[in-house]
Amino acid sequence: QCQGMSKQRMMELRRLNCNPMTMKVTYYKSPVFVHQGHMQWLWDMDGKRYLDFFAGVATVSLGHCHPKVTAAATAQMNKLWHTTNIYVFSALQEYCEKLASHLPDPLKVVYLTNSGSEANDLAMLMSRLHTGNHDILSFRGSYHGGSPQTMALTANSAYKYPVANGGSTTVRASGEAATAETPPYRPPGQCVANDQYIGQLKETFATSLPSRIAAFFAEPIQGMGGAVQYPKDYLKQAYKMVRERGGICIADEVQTGFGRTGSHFWGFQGHEVMPDIVTMAKGIATGFPMGAVVTTPEIAASFAKGVHFNTFGGNPMACTIGSAVLDAIKEDGLQENSHLVGTYMLTQLAKLRDKHQIVGDVRGKGLQIGVEMVEDKVSRTPLSLAAMSDIFEDTKDMGVLIGKGGVYGQNFRVQPPMCVTKEDADYFVAVFDRSIQNYMDRR
Ligand code: PMP
Repeated sequence: QCQGMSKQRMMELRRLNCNPMTMKVTYYKSPVFVHQGHMQWLWDMDGKRYLDFFAGVATVSLGHCHPKVTAAATAQMNKLWHTTNIYVFSALQEYCEKLASHLPDPLKVVYLTNSGSEANDLAMLMSRLHTGNHDILSFRGSYHGGSPQTMALTANSAYKYPVANGGSTTVRASGEAATAETPPYRPPGQCVANDQYIGQLKETFATSLPSRIAAFFAEPIQGMGGAVQYPKDYLKQAYKMVRERGGICIADEVQTGFGRTGSHFWGFQGHEVMPDIVTMAKGIATGFPMGAVVTTPEIAASFAKGVHFNTFGGNPMACTIGSAVLDAIKEDGLQENSHLVGTYMLTQLAKLRDKHQIVGDVRGKGLQIGVEMVEDKVSRTPLSLAAMSDIFEDTKDMGVLIGKGGVYGQNFRVQPPMCVTKEDADYFVAVFDRSIQNYMDRR
């Protein structure tokens, strides 16, 4: 049990002195006041334990306070914290070499940042400098960041400032991005045939973009969009079309990287494509603020024509933590575990889809999973937000934390830390089943 400031005082101060947005994103009707974490577990101020199946949007990807990472961070903290620039310290070189060794050739040049937004900003800038083109393509439902530049890329209207971004995801003002369709689950695009979406992409090129573009951004599996996946070979064809128009291809691995998809270390590898730039954050440092851009020597050479530095991107703490994360993923077999537990969980969740009228679709890969909720399976109308909230709250009250997402707020996101077990998956599925049943009994 926690002896700190009262919950009431915390909320008072939050209202008075904190970014007002923090009042909106407490997530639950009555906020969870977190106090302590260990691996897949979180405790609130009253000592109640939660199984964390969201890990802060796949951020705390290895688990809370992972002992190996905490030990490395503590040792570094007692030794040196400093800016990245000005002096040379070993952790930076060691980390860049280690990270690059996890990527295929020719992706070998590493830039370190403090967040995913910064990484995507940098990637946008690189693509424009390298290609000499300006326009950028991203997907409907995508999320690539909250900076003014990346907000233009982010085609999920829930995260846009209408004035700053022209109020439209398809208008190309300076710094704006055109957007293409992702395969939706419901009309008008129920058909999952590749041709249909490639056709839409061609149309986007014909109607909304000039003949030459700078870049194409895609998450290998959309996160905030609700675990949206692409038809087989879709990304391969999209990459080809982008390159024919002079653009480069950017894989946003902020959520899907570092073994989360199980079958591969990077999500793009599951699509058999080779990006020109990979951006990453979140799981890169299991909760410590860090991001990265990895690219080819050729693109790095184009970028070297200007001056770029980042005071804290790749500072000694970040590099040490990032390095411990890569070691722990290997030593603890976390990618294999993502594959094992994720595949098992998808099978178990598919049973709930067959059982409940309101579970429309279960999708994803490894531990990047989405459950699409509908009023019924025939209309595929998104389940009402009130019903979503009921199930969500009930699941939390029974001790499991999950996430919400999707263009209509109709998707439950299941993104636990990669240390979870099959038993944890069983517990979550049983709780989720009961929450859905409770809602059905009430309705
Ligand atoms: N890309 C993706 C796929 C993300 O999910 C996010 C964050 N949700 C970002 C980029 C931006 O990362 P950050 O919040 O660290 O700036």
